[in-house]
Amino acid sequence: MNKSTQTVNIDEQKIWDVLKSSSLKDASRVRDVLAKSRRLKGLDMHDVASLSTISDPQLLAELFDTAKSVKEEIYGKRLVLFAPLYVSNLCGNECLYCAFRAKNKAVIRRALTQQEIANEVEILVKQGHKRVLLVAGESYPREGFDYILKSIDTVYATKIGSGEIRRVNVNVAPLSVDEFKQLKARHIGTYQIFQETYHHETYNKVHVAGKKKDYDWRITALDRAMEAKIDDVGIGVLFGLADWRFEILAMMQHIAHLEAKFGVGPHTISVPRLEPATGSDMSVHPPQPVSDIDFRKIVAILRLAVPYTGIIMSTRETPNMRRETFALGVSQISAGSRTNPGGYAEGQAEAELEQFSLGDHRSLDEVICDVASLGYIPSFCTACYRLGRTGADFMDLAKPGKIKEHCDPNAISTFMEYLIDYASPQTKKTGEKLIDTILSQINEKAARLTKAMLEKVRAGQRDVYC
Ligand code: SAM
Ligand code: SF4
Repeated sequence: MNKSTQTVNIDEQKIWDVLKSSSLKDASRVRDVLAKSRRLKGLDMHDVASLSTISDPQLLAELFDTAKSVKEEIYGKRLVLFAPLYVSNLCGNECLYCAFRAKNKAVIRRALTQQEIANEVEILVKQGHKRVLLVAGESYPREGFDYILKSIDTVYATKIGSGEIRRVNVNVAPLSVDEFKQLKARHIGTYQIFQETYHHETYNKVHVAGKKKDYDWRITALDRAMEAKIDDVGIGVLFGLADWRFEILAMMQHIAHLEAKFGVGPHTISVPRLEPATGSDMSVHPPQPVSDIDFRKIVAILRLAVPYTGIIMSTRETPNMRRETFALGVSQISAGSRTNPGGYAEGQAEAELEQFSLGDHRSLDEVICDVASLGYIPSFCTACYRLGRTGADFMDLAKPGKIKEHCDPNAISTFMEYLIDYASPQTKKTGEKLIDTILSQINEKAARLTKAMLEKVRAGQRDVYC
């Protein structure tokens, strides 16, 4: 078939067949897959299915150990930070798990004005954020999709001293190729969209009205984004709707499709788990709840299956769960989040406006202090996207391990910016100690480059990257 017309096909029968054929718990097969994953070439559907059968505590420990070493090998100690920016909770869909669903009278509707968006951004910038994920329900104020485009412009235009948002990622409803081109022209970072569930029957049951009922329009969104030359795209599943084993195998099919058609898979995978949402029974009683232990397994398996794809952990999860999954494969986290439009200016989450309730309520500074005390380097780096190291170019550097040469120095220099400009005294002390330790551990060449960058940051230069 001509590559450009190839359509994404989630073959449900094949997924069930593979799951069935892997259902025999076979320790030696699992160990073979773990050995294969240490070669950092990724895994196929059969391998993923084998890992998903693990329940024996010894094998589980081996899975987690392997995920830890793969994570460390590729990502080192970096953890990239971002904040979600909810601009509007207007929505025309009826997703039964979400507070923003059209018929939910318990939610007060609000689309921020451009001035209100600037106010939100100002607060985030003053906290030290450099990356936001712009989020909206699937219905826009009178100006239509232009509202999203203007909102992105507003975010980039808001500067507070030397503080600014340097990368806007976007999570909005599926667009046409032409709209994606307009998004691309606004210099977005990643376009992200979650299929929610790849399981057709479940998909139809939980999306009861509105445009989102159309499974195919949603699953082909990333094809259109890539056709519009947005080459950093993010995928995700809303865990709790259907069998998680089915979902991760379907996700492997989606990834294989993108790789075959565009030569590059997704830049990130998000792993949202259903959280209670106002006016949604389904969110309180998920159809197929994912236990904490299975959730850790999901992160570890994805880390081994697609080692070069970032894994994003949001503040839906508790501080403890977040800490555990950092080691297992997470490379990006949100912090200090609000999921109600205007939530940063109002200083609190408001149940009548927010999308779902959060598991981690700590401020950015508290999260950073915690992350640093665990030995991870909080990173605000946005260098790749601004240097055009995106899509296949990024993967070409990542796969031979070369991206680390950029990431470590950039993480440390942007962390130092944060420590000087925004950190509390306690975080500053913890962070500077961590930087000294890391500098003594990295190779001489990287240490020399990093020290030179740090000198510039200490001298007042900002946005220093390589
Ligand atoms: N409205 C757009 C859409 O649905 O694609 C984009 C933004 S939507 C606000 C972002 C994501 O929030 C959804 O894709 C869904 O996975 C997630 N979400 C919705 N309800 C949730 C809940 N109760 N708990 C956790 N995540 C939820
Ligand atoms: Fe609307 Fe998105 Fe919520 Fe569905 S998940 S109701 S589309 S905001």
